[in-house]
Amino acid sequence: MAEKVVEIENLVKRYKELVALDHLNLTVEKGEIFGLLGPNGSGKTTAISCILALLNFDKGSVKVFGEEIQPDSYRIKQQIGVVLQNVAVFEELTVQENIDYFCGLYIKDKAERKKCVEEAITFAGLEDFRKFLPKKLSGGLLRRLNIACGIAHKPKLIILDEPTVAVDPQSRNRILEGIQKLNREGATIIYTSHYMEEVEQICSRIAILDKGRCVASGTKEELKAMIKTGEKIHMEVMELTPEQLEEIQSLQHVYQLTYDKGMLEIRCSGGKHNLVRILDYFQQKEISFGRVYTELPTLNDVFLEITGKELRDLAEG
Ligand code: ADP
Ligand code: MG
Repeated sequence: MAEKVVEIENLVKRYKELVALDHLNLTVEKGEIFGLLGPNGSGKTTAISCILALLNFDKGSVKVFGEEIQPDSYRIKQQIGVVLQNVAVFEELTVQENIDYFCGLYIKDKAERKKCVEEAITFAGLEDFRKFLPKKLSGGLLRRLNIACGIAHKPKLIILDEPTVAVDPQSRNRILEGIQKLNREGATIIYTSHYMEEVEQICSRIAILDKGRCVASGTKEELKAMIKTGEKIHMEVMELTPEQLEEIQSLQHVYQLTYDKGMLEIRCSGGKHNLVRILDYFQQKEISFGRVYTELPTLNDVFLEITGKELRDLAEG
């Protein structure tokens, strides 16, 4: 069985009346890129603060590398790299000095530290900016500096809290690729985001959070298999009679139809050859149609079916 890096059991965290984590359970195994996906306010940062023992919680347990984590668990904490949501660097230190400072908290040997700092600079693509003060950096570069500071000491577990919020596409790709590289080199990653596309792109396993609870978890394939939607078919159709709509609705695997402004959306539960079956029907009835395309379910569909809300809408907070 795979080694467990983080085990969270029945974790409850309240801020006065507000229940930020409501009996949260999750396990992160060695070698994973584990995604915590949820809208703003779903408890991602609170969960991370508990994993790091930065926050007292009300109930439950958090184990990291098999041990209950405490505020003074320095031996465990040395093996964790954290990239917090809010950039935390020293304004009066240069890029290189910042990385050196954070790396120096963990690595005392000078030669080794120098090597680690150089590697972190290369990793983040900050070679041309090493003498810059943070305030001279663009938003994307500042994020990359924040990441370089968190990972320079080569931790076994790396936690990144929404590292791509408000960064340009180039930095975003660089960050996502960098995370995958760190993972290939052996680090276990916990990655939080409210961008389902990113989580889908890089995470090997995902927990979907809503209001402090884990509403579903698994690989993206497992999550998509949990919901009814297997395929969405969109067709441009000028005109359909109520009878025809009823007939389409009764085709095999079709479970939901919407027809609005000449656009027909057909949700099919699993099954094969849905499109062929539907096109057959259109041919038989000699109904003409325009553009046709099909879509596989996204994590947004998973979130929508489980919680009744659009993650996409909630994310724009
Ligand atoms: P996320 O990171 O998913 O956006 P958070 O963990 O930051 O969510 O927040 C979870 C809930 O707890 C939210 O409703 C938020 O308003 C609340 N919350 C977070 N931090 C505090 C705090 N220090 N005091 C009171 N409420 C807080
Ligand atoms: Mg957060």
